[in-house]
Amino acid sequence: MSAASAAASPASPHPHDGLLGLPPLTAADFAAVERGVAALLSTGDDVVIMQGEALLPLEACIRGAARPGSTALNIVTGPYGTTFGGWLRDAGAKVVDLAVPFDSAVAAEQVARALKAHPEIDFVSLVHAEAATGNTNPVAEIGEVVRDGGALFMLDAVASVAAEPLLPQQWGVDLCVIGGQKAMGGPAGVSAVTVSERAWQRIAANPAAPRRSYLSLLDWKERWIDGGRRTLPHAPAQLEMLALDACMARIAQEGLDAVIARHRAAAAAAREGALDLGLSPFVSEAAHAAPVATTVRTPQGMHAGELVAAALAADPGVPLAAGGGALASEMLRINHYGADATLPTITRTLSALSAALHR
Ligand SMILES: *Cc1c(COP(=O)(O)O)cnc(C)c1O
Repeated sequence: MSAASAAASPASPHPHDGLLGLPPLTAADFAAVERGVAALLSTGDDVVIMQGEALLPLEACIRGAARPGSTALNIVTGPYGTTFGGWLRDAGAKVVDLAVPFDSAVAAEQVARALKAHPEIDFVSLVHAEAATGNTNPVAEIGEVVRDGGALFMLDAVASVAAEPLLPQQWGVDLCVIGGQKAMGGPAGVSAVTVSERAWQRIAANPAAPRRSYLSLLDWKERWIDGGRRTLPHAPAQLEMLALDACMARIAQEGLDAVIARHRAAAAAAREGALDLGLSPFVSEAAHAAPVATTVRTPQGMHAGELVAAALAADPGVPLAAGGGALASEMLRINHYGADATLPTITRTLSALSAALHR
């Protein structure tokens, strides 16, 4: 059908109905999606849904809480930690980096030692699961240690939400950021952060915290939450909000525990299958492996990019990717999240990998 005949079709929406003829997303709809996120995370803390990809609330948290005179413990277990360190320094904070090899997890005792050595630490940033490197960190244990020291605790849970248990309020996480694009099988265009009462106080007391800015959590508090969630501060990203709502409904229908079990089973099958193919898991201890993605080392003399290309030539649909950055040649990832967290997908991926290895 030509564009002209489509426009003339009586079924096509009137231009003033919006692109898809949808009714506007109301303040009540928006607040309901926030309650959905709070239920997903079993939290009573405020939920702010930011109208952008998850890097937006992550940067908003750091710029809201960090300032000259503050000291941050930045735990680096993958590439995102390096990004957070840059923002923290940029915000004027003194940064203590606690870096661990990307093929393992950080232990709560290491965090405790760092806090003891630097009692002035008032902010801790951590990534829960690392989709890029395939490791996951013991947040509940780390949360206990951080609480004892009194620092504000920020967690990047984009790659863990819906793939493994995530209980930010129970674990003492003050700022917990999630995105829909990994295990939730949802949109990347909106994201959410839970904000504890302590975190609101810290951000409100920070003269350097963004205000009247797209990075401002305080704007959402003052213009949306404190006003009783009656008027949205600006037009919401309607399609992404609907997609987030829909993916949460799907998770509720399957059951969060079942979704988590599906990711765990996919990860276990991927790890076992990789070992059967003679590939070494990148994350040496199974207990440190993230349910969201399985990473393996390429065999000696083979380039990850070439191996992935050969596997995708054998089966273009499998969720296989070469590592990023410094790991681009030596690591590959099976991204078994969302709709790809199934045993048939793992079997297909391993077959494609096997075909590539035997070429
Ligand atoms: C995927 C992911 C994000 C979101 O970043 P993208 O660049 O959009 O993929 C943030 N943090 C972690 C730990 C992630 O895995």
